[in-house]
Amino acid sequence: MQAKKCVFPKALVVVRGPRTCYTNAITFNADETLPECPPVDPSPAIHRITNMARRRQIYEGKAKILFEGPEPGTLVQYFKDDATAFNNQKKGVITGKGVLNNRISEYLMTRLGEIGIPTHFVRRLNMREQLVREVEIIPIEVVIRNVVAGSLAKRFGMAEGTALPRSIVEFCYKSDELNDPLVSEEHITAFGWAAPPDLDEIMAMSLRINDFLTGLFLGIGLKLVDFKLEFGRLWENEQMRIVLADEISPDSCRLWDIKTNEKLDKDRFRRDLGDVEEAYQEVARRLGILPESGPRDMQGPDTMQ
Ligand code: C5P
Repeated sequence: MQAKKCVFPKALVVVRGPRTCYTNAITFNADETLPECPPVDPSPAIHRITNMARRRQIYEGKAKILFEGPEPGTLVQYFKDDATAFNNQKKGVITGKGVLNNRISEYLMTRLGEIGIPTHFVRRLNMREQLVREVEIIPIEVVIRNVVAGSLAKRFGMAEGTALPRSIVEFCYKSDELNDPLVSEEHITAFGWAAPPDLDEIMAMSLRINDFLTGLFLGIGLKLVDFKLEFGRLWENEQMRIVLADEISPDSCRLWDIKTNEKLDKDRFRRDLGDVEEAYQEVARRLGILPESGPRDMQGPDTMQ
C-alpha cells in the first residue's frame, strides 16, 4: 500500500499502518519493556553531540525537538530553554528551563500513569531528553480552567483570580497561522479532528487529570489556575487508544502560590515579571525534584542552536 504522510499543524509527524493513512506501519506493544538505554555520559556536552550525530530529527517545535527513538514507535523528546509567547511574537531563553521541564513533566506524567491515565511517557533518558511513544497528535489543545486568568479574563473582561464555580474545559485548534482559535466540540467532530467517542474520552481524562493535579499541587502550596493538555492516538496492532502526550510543566500550566498568589509559571516571562528561572526552580523544588547539584546542574547539556 502506498503510504501517505499526515501532517497536522504544530503536530508530530506520525506513522501508521494499513488501516489508516500514515507511513511506516509500526506495531508497538505498550506493555513491552524497552531495551535499556546506555548510561548517561557524565559529560553532558559530549552526550548531546553524540546523540545529535546519531538521531534523525523528526520535528522541531518552539520549546521541544523530537528525534527518532531507539526503537520503532518511540521518539526522543528534547526540552529546549527557548521560550515563546503570544504566538511567537515574544521570544527569549529561560536558562535551565529545559532541564526543569523535562523533570517536572516526567514527574507529573509518572504520577498520572500511576492512577491509570495512559500517557506517551516511557522514561527520562538524561537531563534534557525523555523517551516517549510515538503518537498521532490530535490537533487540539485542551485548556482546563479552575480560576479566571489569561485569555479567559481578557475575553470576558473578568478579574484575574476569580474562582470558577466549576472547572471549564476549552478547546483550541492547533494552528499558528490561525492563532490557535477557540473551537467547539461541534467543530472538532465535524472537521474530523476527533471522533465523538474520542472527544468524550479526552474530556473525561482531562477532568480526571485536573482533579488529580489540583490536589497534587495543593499539597505543595500551589494553586492550579489553568493548564493545557494535548492528546494523541497510540496504535497497538489494530487497536487505537487515546493517550496524554506533549508535556505538563510551568510552560503549560498557571501555578500560583496558595498564600501570596505569586505566579510561578510562564506568565513571569510573558509579562516581564522577572525571576523566571527561579519560579521554575521553585516548582521543581516543591515537587522534590530539583536536580541535586542545584543551579549549576540547570544548564544541562549544550543546547542545539
Ligand atoms: O492564554 P490562556 O489563558 O488561554 O492559557 C490557558 C492555559 O493554557 C495557560 O496555563 C497556558 O500556559 C496554557 N497554554 C499553553 N499553550 C498554548 C496556549 C495556552 O500551554 N498554546
